[in-house]
Amino acid sequence: KHTSVSNEDLILYRKQHLGKSLSLQYKVPIKMVRGDGAFLIDQNGKRYLDTVNNVAHVGHEHPAVVKAGQDQMGLLNTNSRYLHDNINTLAEELLATLPQELSVLHFVNSGSEANELAIRMVKAATGQSDIIASEVGYHGNSNMCIDISSYKFDGKGGSGAPEHTHIFPLPDAFRGKYRGANAGEHYAQEVQKQIDTIHKKGRGVGAFIIEPIISCGGQIELPTGFLEKAYQAVREVGGLCISDEVQVGCGRVGKTFWGFQLHNVIPDIVTIGKPLGNGHPLAAVACTQEVANAFANGMEYFNTFGGNPVSCAIGAEVLRTVKRENLQNNALKVGEFLKAELKELAKRFPIIGDVRGQGLFLGIELVDQHMNPLPDHTDYLANRMKDHGILMSTDGPDYNVLKIKPPIIFSKAQAKELIFYLSKIFNEDFMNSF
Ligand code: PMP
Repeated sequence: KHTSVSNEDLILYRKQHLGKSLSLQYKVPIKMVRGDGAFLIDQNGKRYLDTVNNVAHVGHEHPAVVKAGQDQMGLLNTNSRYLHDNINTLAEELLATLPQELSVLHFVNSGSEANELAIRMVKAATGQSDIIASEVGYHGNSNMCIDISSYKFDGKGGSGAPEHTHIFPLPDAFRGKYRGANAGEHYAQEVQKQIDTIHKKGRGVGAFIIEPIISCGGQIELPTGFLEKAYQAVREVGGLCISDEVQVGCGRVGKTFWGFQLHNVIPDIVTIGKPLGNGHPLAAVACTQEVANAFANGMEYFNTFGGNPVSCAIGAEVLRTVKRENLQNNALKVGEFLKAELKELAKRFPIIGDVRGQGLFLGIELVDQHMNPLPDHTDYLANRMKDHGILMSTDGPDYNVLKIKPPIIFSKAQAKELIFYLSKIFNEDFMNSF
């Protein structure tokens, strides 16, 4: 059941009374009223295949997850100063997915809160507040998170890197500063340069933070060897390493449960968000005993909603669903099939410069014959796909990367449907004039 207010009136009200810096998806905005697996359903009953929503990890409104939340909501919801089985259960099940070095959890309510807390931990554990982060990285909307998010402070409305933030070039081996086989080594040297800059200022390194696949940067896979070398350099000078798994975590990358496991590293702090609650606001910070002990310096960390019984019931059911339905393996199998098919498309349509990513976290970069980005074509493609009932998102510093990050229940048949329509649109005149 929905209201009789027209979409035009909903838009007018939003413009006047809801946050004015919030954008709407698509030129003609859609009103969604239901979710169902890999689909979103609009007010007219039209079903859209969703390749955007990596939050609805095990599928929109998964019945087992909905039931876990509803059942607990009917019993009790309160803060985590009382004993409750749910918080211990979720902690145990989440820690079982992480290396044994990471054995303490703090539950929070959003990815931003998780990264905010991670940086507070860094300050407590190292006594330093200088942070090294990637160009075009995004880590959240709070003050501290914006201060380490080049995607925001180097973009519209931003005013550049704050004094304690040190940005190294986007480690993009396709169109970045360094390309080809030794790119990983070169980008690690860029991290070293930032370490040197911090030392020249007479200060020490707090932390190095990065996503294992850089989402807002345009689904950038870290070049071989980069993460190991960067971690080594940071640790040598006493800095901590944070893996931001808010987008890629919980089985999405297929080969491994966490993105950092694609590389030969173990972070000091892992931040977890979006997929853990399957749409319910639930996030977490995992860290070592050393970091947790340093953070417990006498000042209590209390979070009114973090770790409440309802959120924890939901989180535990999400993890169980990933296991029960073998969804990490589905992400691997369907993701590899889709990536291979996209590479076939790239042979037919030279506008596709690069196909990359892992599992169901993929990107397609559109460029001309001189490697110039084609943002208008990328935007056209996303809008035309919508006309065919398929939701796709675009990103990257030049807005020329099409992102594919559906719920990880995404099936092979749905991947085939996606390829069918992509191929159809790539054949259109506009896509072939550049
Ligand atoms: N880190 C990353 C990598 C993200 O993509 C996001 C959200 N897009 C965040 C942190 C912040 O998460 P939230 O919006 O839940 O605060």
